[in-house]
Formats: sequence, C-alpha cells, structure tokens
Amino acid sequence: MEKYSLLPEQLLYEGTVTESQFFTADPLPEDAILRTHTADYWHKLKYLKLSRKEARTIGFPMRPELVARGRVIAQGTLDCARYAFSDGVALNVAGGTHHAFADHGEGFCVFNDIAIATNELLHSGEVKQVLIVDLDVHQGNGTASLFAHEPRVFTFSMHGARNYPVRKERSDLDIGLPDGCQDDVYLDTLRGHLPGLLDGIAPDLVFYLSGVDVLESDKLGRLSVSLGGCRERDRYVLECCRERGLPVAISMGGGYSERLATIIEAHANTFRVAASLYD
Ligand SMILES: [Zn+2]
Repeated sequence: MEKYSLLPEQLLYEGTVTESQFFTADPLPEDAILRTHTADYWHKLKYLKLSRKEARTIGFPMRPELVARGRVIAQGTLDCARYAFSDGVALNVAGGTHHAFADHGEGFCVFNDIAIATNELLHSGEVKQVLIVDLDVHQGNGTASLFAHEPRVFTFSMHGARNYPVRKERSDLDIGLPDGCQDDVYLDTLRGHLPGLLDGIAPDLVFYLSGVDVLESDKLGRLSVSLGGCRERDRYVLECCRERGLPVAISMGGGYSERLATIIEAHANTFRVAASLYD
C-alpha cells in the first residue's frame, strides 16, 4: 500500500510533475457504480455485508474506508479519461482493479475502475468505441467478463499464461506469455499486436493498464522483463497512441517487487515517459 503515497511524492520531488498537474477525485456516484456492478454486490459493500468468504476472495477485510477509497479511485479513472480528451494523456496514481466482476470482487479489487469509467462514457455518449490495453501480468478477468457481450469495448489482455487467475475469462484478445519471458519476446509480442488493434478498432479512447508486475524482480509475476523493458513497453504504447491522436487514460495496476524502490521506479517510469512525450 505504501506505493500509493510514495509515487506522487517521488514524481513531485524529481520534478516529473508539478503540484498543479495533480487533481483530486470525488467519490463516484452510486448510479455510476450501478452501471457496472450489481445492486446486490454494491449493497453488500455499502452496508459492509459481504460474507467472510466474499471478503477473503477480495483479499482484505472490508472496512468503510476501503469502499470509500475504491469509489474515489474509480472516479479518478473516469476523470483521467476526460482529461485525456483534452490533454492527450492522464494517469491515475492508483486503479487498474481489473479482477472486479459485476457481482463480486477478487484479487484485491473491489470496483473495476476502467469498466466503470468505460460504461459511464458510453452511457453519456462521450465515446462510441473503447479499447482496453491490459498489460498487467495477471489476466484482466473481471474486465473481460464485464464486456464479453459489449461490441463497443474491445478488451486486450497480455499476461502470464500460468499466472493468476487459474481460470481465465475470454477477452476479445488474450495473449498468454510463458514463464520467464524476457524483454525481446515481450516487446516483440506487443509490437506484433498493438498497432493492428489501434488501426482496426479505431477507438475514441484507450485505457491502458500499466501493471509493473511483469518485472523479473516481481514476487508474483513469473516473467523476466527488465526495468528498461518495462519502460520501453510504456513508451511504445503511448507513442503508438500519440501518433494516431488517440487519448489514453492510464491506471496503474499491480507491482510486487521485493524492493519498494523498484516498484516506485517502474511506476514512475510510466509517468516520466508520458511527461516526455506530451507537453
Ligand atoms: Zn497484476
């Protein structure tokens, strides 16, 4: 949890961003929650009625602050999308909670921030077509399930084939990478798919889930991507979107390296790359 406060501190300290470039999100309104999550699930969260088993599946005991935090993060991702329309790119210093389904949470994810933002923007008519590029090492199973029957949303997940979740959902495009996958294969695979998706789908908006649990140093990742390879991945995704004039909203996703400094460095790289490509 420490990374969520350390990352903005680091970005300010090194001058990658200024105080005035940050925004603070309000809690997401209930009607927006209910466009993505079931009323039954939301009421269990709201009134802290999740069973012990349901809370265990999420991964932490349910407290009002966690529900409140999830609402702010989801609104933050929605706000990011709207900033991306004007600025080209905007990044959430949290989010990427892609294991949350319509009716339950799992894998430390309570609300699905990208799905919530997507549904809200589709509902308001701000977008007609969305592409979700999920490069967290874990499959975006909640997101895949939520949009399985939604042609206006294309879900792309590139993840560790042998990693959590054991039972994968079906995204519109899934690429499972072998254990130990290194920079060259990792980046070549991405380069082989992303441009075609961007051109073929021609989305109004791209959500990018930039999890850094692909790193070799990650305790849960099983892949062997270097810090430089991870930074190149971020640069490539943003460059591909920028040269096509596609707005990008980024949610942070996972990162579980042994050293906290490595986690911060990898997440900070996403912001540094964005800062270097966009004015
Ligand atoms: Zn992950």
